[in-house]
Amino acid sequence: MNCWHCERPAHGVCRFCGRAVCKEHTKTLPYITNLYHTQNGRYKALVVAETLYCGVCRPKEDPISVSGLDE
Ligand SMILES: [Zn+2]
Ligand SMILES: [Zn+2]
Repeated sequence: MNCWHCERPAHGVCRFCGRAVCKEHTKTLPYITNLYHTQNGRYKALVVAETLYCGVCRPKEDPISVSGLDE
């Protein structure tokens, strides 16, 4: 697989969208691996910092609500 940006051999794959990227074009973003409720009703998130990111896609920080599926 080649880099999405420069067509050279890729070193990794974007965690968010699956595009392949080489080291030169790799960016990083924190990635939420898990969200859970604590006993006192708060949300906690397990976050991996420096997750491989392609720099092209636009991952959302929070889950978005989807409308139009209830017809
Ligand atoms: Zn590249
Ligand atoms: Zn991506």
